[in-house]
Amino acid sequence: MEKPEKLIVDGKRLDGRAPDELRPLKIQAGVLKRADGSAYVELGKNKVLAAVYGPREMHPRHHQQPDTAVLRCRYNMAPFSVEERKRPGPDRRSVEISKVAREALEPVVFLELYPRSAIDIFIEILQADAGTRTTGITAASVALADAGVPMRDLVSAVAVGKVDDTIVLDLTKEEDQWGTTDMPIALMPRKKLITLLQMDGHFTHEEFKRALALAFNGCEQIYEAQKRALREKYSVKPEEE
Ligand code: UDP
Repeated sequence: MEKPEKLIVDGKRLDGRAPDELRPLKIQAGVLKRADGSAYVELGKNKVLAAVYGPREMHPRHHQQPDTAVLRCRYNMAPFSVEERKRPGPDRRSVEISKVAREALEPVVFLELYPRSAIDIFIEILQADAGTRTTGITAASVALADAGVPMRDLVSAVAVGKVDDTIVLDLTKEEDQWGTTDMPIALMPRKKLITLLQMDGHFTHEEFKRALALAFNGCEQIYEAQKRALREKYSVKPEEE
């Protein structure tokens, strides 16, 4: 696609959304039989799967911590997830995203309950359209809860940014590519604690405050959908009792 002259026309974005609108969101908990916990998330054209294994004994043993569990995270993009085939295997970007995703999730998990253990999180990007690190974190926190890992809260994540001088929620690939700023954020919604904040581009102080408010609002909507997905999985319907 060629860069259009304007990314926002009459207050509407290329996909018809208002600046403060999230893409259509679908979350399903417990989609994989062999993982201890799992979740599938669609956010617009993003399709992301997260699987959790553990807590289980840490191998290799010399990585065991005597007083805590260790969270490990692998973010991986499928070769067919992007327009230009992604070369399989880790690269600088996926190593960075794996690290920031782990750091975004660590604060919610009661790791101290499982000394010498490992909790493994796999984030698989099946289809990408910008915001895959945040969608991956959203999926991973549902997968952790689905695995029964004791948690202080969920983590909800979304990107905000600036496109044609307008602050927008949840950027698409085109907006990420041609916009001026992209700021992914992850949040523990109950206490409003930020566990990930990255920024590509720049904001004035005022714009930053507005973008943050928009991200908090987006995370709140994602949080509700995450809880709904977990309730759907775990509510026992009368006919199944
Ligand atoms: N992307 C791509 N090829 C790559 C990496 C990324 O086409 O090798 C696209 C993909 O759609 C991704 C977007 O660029 O979602 C933005 O990537 P970024 O690094 O900003 O991370 P994200 O927004 O996905 O968290």
